[in-house]
Amino acid sequence: MTGLFEDFSMTIGGKGVTSPATIDVLNPATEEVVASVPDCTQDQLNEAVAAARKAFPGWRDTPIDERRKVLFKMAEVIAANADDFARLFTLEQGRPLAGARMEIDFGAYWAAEVAKQEIPVTVTEDSDQKLSETHHVPLGVVAGIVPWNFPFNLALWKIAPALLTGNTLVLKPSPFTPLTMLKFAELMRDHMPAGVLNVVSGGDSLGPWLTAHPEVDKISFTGSTATGKKVMESAASDLKRITLELGGNDAAIVMPDVDVDAIADQLFFAAFGNSGQICIATKRMYVHEDIYDKVAEALTVRAQHAVVGDGLEQASNFGPIQNRPQFERVKNLIEDAKEKGLNFIAGGDLKDDKGYFIPISIVDNPPEESRVVQEEAFGPVLPLLKFKDLDEVIARVNASEYGLAGSIWTKDVEKAKEVAKRLDTGTVWINHSMYIMPWTPFAGRKQSGMGVENGQEGLLEFTAPLTITVAKEPQPA
Ligand code: NAD
Repeated sequence: MTGLFEDFSMTIGGKGVTSPATIDVLNPATEEVVASVPDCTQDQLNEAVAAARKAFPGWRDTPIDERRKVLFKMAEVIAANADDFARLFTLEQGRPLAGARMEIDFGAYWAAEVAKQEIPVTVTEDSDQKLSETHHVPLGVVAGIVPWNFPFNLALWKIAPALLTGNTLVLKPSPFTPLTMLKFAELMRDHMPAGVLNVVSGGDSLGPWLTAHPEVDKISFTGSTATGKKVMESAASDLKRITLELGGNDAAIVMPDVDVDAIADQLFFAAFGNSGQICIATKRMYVHEDIYDKVAEALTVRAQHAVVGDGLEQASNFGPIQNRPQFERVKNLIEDAKEKGLNFIAGGDLKDDKGYFIPISIVDNPPEESRVVQEEAFGPVLPLLKFKDLDEVIARVNASEYGLAGSIWTKDVEKAKEVAKRLDTGTVWINHSMYIMPWTPFAGRKQSGMGVENGQEGLLEFTAPLTITVAKEPQPA
């Protein structure tokens, strides 16, 4: 066993495995190398899938209460190492330490809460002639693929339900943020049978190898819509089961009856938490024209006071963009907005320093068709938009290829619930945002995804229904 900050190895068949080649993981605040990790070869990936396949029958037949214990152990191991995990997280992901610690703590909480979930058995007939029960059995080997924005928690969203339901797993973190997951798997090696949880790290070939692998039964994928489509194509060859949690362009609708001062902090956080790198962040904010100026002023003041900096520095409230390609994408979106003559009421000017820093930026009422409104920025750039009429704003919100989540801010909760039913998204929050718990089903509509994660619906996505029907003895006359 080594410390949390050095000697990164993959976990394959319960053992630590290194590779002939490595990839460097950079600190996005300094662009310096934090550590090198194995670049998994195709043979090693095959070994990981074979280890998961070998472990499957034993794990499937392990009583669920024993499987629960492994999840509780995960929570214990995370909690016992939370300070180091949080620091490692900041080094690779960039988020300031307090936010990093929240993600680590939430990972422990998630494992422990999923451990308490039940797999239902439904009796669909209990007549004189027949007893019919539907059980939910594990699928086999699951491939879990996760992005870099919440690399720890989103991995736990896959590990905990996959293992609880009796599947074995090969998890692939993003090449930009593999460190915390590699160390988590290392710390868990002695606490579960070999092959139940395998974690592999590598470059761009690794994801396609994994999704095309004939011994993988299900893919649980979180990432961009563009990659999600490739995953779906790859899964089609042998009809692998898939759950896709993809991109979004979530809208907030702010009605004229709100108390702007009371909700301004929440609106600001909804858009700029994790520097906007949240799939369910508010990426378009529609504000009624009567209160537009007041909301614009409240957000601008907060943007001016925000400290964007290295996550290890105490003063920083917002970290950098996590990686160079994403930094270039967000920069390009800002440049496009400027070229089109759009007005920034906050931010918009980039410094030429080290690190992938982008200031908190707000664009003042840009045209609906502008790129900054239509595209998922996935960075701290918010278009603030005016609306007059409710039907008009609902149409604008729904005119998106995405349908992940959204929020409505108003004192009239009943009316907001009616509006929620007219939004083409999987989740709507009223007077708050970004609330997802182990028991809340989370599902993207349109090009935001397919299937469900979390809640009982999400748990059952790691299973297949098995209906067992028993013919009863003929009843005596
Ligand atoms: P990405 O699609 O580039 O990468 C996601 C993961 O897929 C990474 O591990 C990557 O290595 C892997 N990958 C890349 N190409 C692959 C391929 N051809 N086959 C298989 N795997 C492949 O996404 P990203 O840039 O890491 O993450 C940002 C995106 O993720 C945003 O669009 C965001 O909205 C989305 N996201 C969605 C949710 C959700 O729950 N809906 C949550 C977080 C992030």
